[in-house]
Amino acid sequence: MLVMAQLLDGKALAATIRGEIAARVAGRTQAGKRPPGLAAVLVGNDPASQGYVRSKHKACLENGLHSTVHRLPEETTQSQLLDLIEQLNADATVHGILVQLPLPRHIETDAILRAVTPAKDVDCFHPENVGLLTIGFPRFYPCTPHGVVQLLNRYNVPVAGHEVVVVGRSDIVGKPLSIMLMQKPTAHNPAAGDATVTVAHSRTHDLAAVCRRADILIAAVGQAGMITADMVKPGAAVVDVGTNRVGNAWVGDVAPEVATVAGWLSPVPGGVGPMTITMLLYNTVAAAEQIDG
Ligand code: NDP
Repeated sequence: MLVMAQLLDGKALAATIRGEIAARVAGRTQAGKRPPGLAAVLVGNDPASQGYVRSKHKACLENGLHSTVHRLPEETTQSQLLDLIEQLNADATVHGILVQLPLPRHIETDAILRAVTPAKDVDCFHPENVGLLTIGFPRFYPCTPHGVVQLLNRYNVPVAGHEVVVVGRSDIVGKPLSIMLMQKPTAHNPAAGDATVTVAHSRTHDLAAVCRRADILIAAVGQAGMITADMVKPGAAVVDVGTNRVGNAWVGDVAPEVATVAGWLSPVPGGVGPMTITMLLYNTVAAAEQIDG
């Protein structure tokens, strides 16, 4: 009999965690505090970015957060965008600022991300926050890596001491996730994984052999179906971060037949995606707690 992997159901877990977040928000508003507020900034007409911002806005409203979306035309200048960020930095109703990436090519992404005041940097992209995360005193956990860690922890996948392979080393996913998973947990850094972590990338020799070492294999590449069953240790937990458009469907980096080898598997869609948005709400509430008390 073919045994299928246990589903790491990000949609269901996201609903549970959003319930916890909504209760925290309700507690704050009942105590007479301002609702946590997220300001999203979207420049241009990229359809995928528009979809992400819509989902984030809707999730905020459904859970009692305040949410505003600033839609700017493609031809917005860097200095106009910096002016808006300065206004949002000073706005007491805004606790989290999200600049949806990618920005148009004529705008320097680094300059914009560094302009967001670190206290409201709920994506955890500002160098100050990346530094704090790296030394084990995170102000915020970055949303997608935190979503992955929550999926593993709440489904009781053993992490501490185990071999983790992260495929992908981007600043948004692979690098911060590998840092979180290898760190020692402390009171300041409860999501740290205490794992033995290998980071693979496009220059890695014999990727299949490296992946087969993993008790937990995380795919964050952006190539549909590139992790095949022969690359997975039987019983391993496989987390698929990839989101790739194939025809009319979204598919992950992990081939479907991996479900017959893995012990746990996160689906696409319905895995890491809903968790990412949920951890953005989590960070916005954390920012409100840090700023307003
Ligand atoms: P990047 O393109 O920034 O990084 C991709 C990484 O994959 C790079 O480190 C690259 O290596 C590595 N890579 C590329 N080809 C190979 C290969 N053949 N073998 C091994 N490694 C390879 O992507 P992101 O990290 O931003 O995103 C990764 C995926 O995750 C995308 O599909 C994205 O859409 C998705 N994503 C999903 C989110 C969600 O919420 N579900 C959130 C964020 C991203 P090198 O560094 O050498 O170039």
